[in-house]
Amino acid sequence: AYAKRHGANMLVFYHDQMKSSYEEIMIETELYHAIEKEELTLYYQPLVSVHTREVMSVEALIRWSHSKMGFIPPDQFIPIAEENGFIRVLGDWIIEQVCKQLWQWDQEGFVMPKVSINLSYEQLKSDDFVSRVFTHLKTYNISGKRLAFEVTERILVEVSAETMQKVHAIREAGITLAVDDFGVGYSSLSYIERFPVDTIKLDKVFVNEIPIPDKKLAIIKAVFHLCELLNIQIVVEGIESIEQLNQIPIHLEASIQGYFFAKPQTASELMKNMNEIKQLVYLAASKLEERE
Ligand code: C2E
Ligand code: MG
Ligand code: MG
Ligand code: MG
Repeated sequence: AYAKRHGANMLVFYHDQMKSSYEEIMIETELYHAIEKEELTLYYQPLVSVHTREVMSVEALIRWSHSKMGFIPPDQFIPIAEENGFIRVLGDWIIEQVCKQLWQWDQEGFVMPKVSINLSYEQLKSDDFVSRVFTHLKTYNISGKRLAFEVTERILVEVSAETMQKVHAIREAGITLAVDDFGVGYSSLSYIERFPVDTIKLDKVFVNEIPIPDKKLAIIKAVFHLCELLNIQIVVEGIESIEQLNQIPIHLEASIQGYFFAKPQTASELMKNMNEIKQLVYLAASKLEERE
């Protein structure tokens, strides 16, 4: 009767709303059990240096495979976990898993200098955040230098004095800080002056069109220049093809992350694929040198 009065479009709209909130509630309830049910896995995606021709680090990216709902992308459940506070538990678990993985790679003689971990503001705000991180590092005998934390611009704008202290404590332990998705947040650049930023990860929107439009190229150049002046490392995200790589006015010092070199993959896949990944790095390096 409701649909008849308001027309078919209204019904569709109403139904979609219900479906999305139902899914959200499902995700919210099921996520609480995901750790114990062993449905969560960390995938790792390399960040490569064309300059040194090496894999510099990997970024840990969480994957959730639910028995009934199937694969649920992080973009769908991380915001929910941030909203209800579960990210504190989940985030802590992620940091521990990464330390454990580094320890395991060390045991196996697999060289992995560093792992980068995405951090939510909610995590940083929790009182025991720093002590938990230090505990995990100690448990698995990992130096702080082997971790990087990625935060978004929004966090840096909202950061309080108390959070700032935590950031300094983390950096004193050798952990580096990266600004993720740089250039797409609604922030001002002033945080770069106040905040100890080690790395900027230029968002993939700047390279996702081929040919890269002139305006985007100008922005890329300006960001490279800014980073050079401020002695900040730069990572270009989202490189999927050699054409894209060839288009960017790349500094050889910049690191690259993207499907061209490797997709996010499990730790064991990564070990298996390492030689192939390195060959792609060599290929890219020789292409860029030709261009010089
Ligand atoms: P992000 O941190 O910016 O991660 C990069 C995203 O870009 C990843 O998506 C990655 O798979 C994707 N990507 C990498 N290379 C390419 C490429 O060449 N082309 C394209 N089109 N995409 C590429 P993913 O894994 O789905 O993660 C999405 C977002 O979810 C992440 O964005 C991050 O904000 C969040 N996230 C993932 N794992 C975690 C986590 O462990 N903790 C927290 N707090 N957030 C996470
Ligand atoms: Mg990231
Ligand atoms: Mg990113
Ligand atoms: Mg992102």
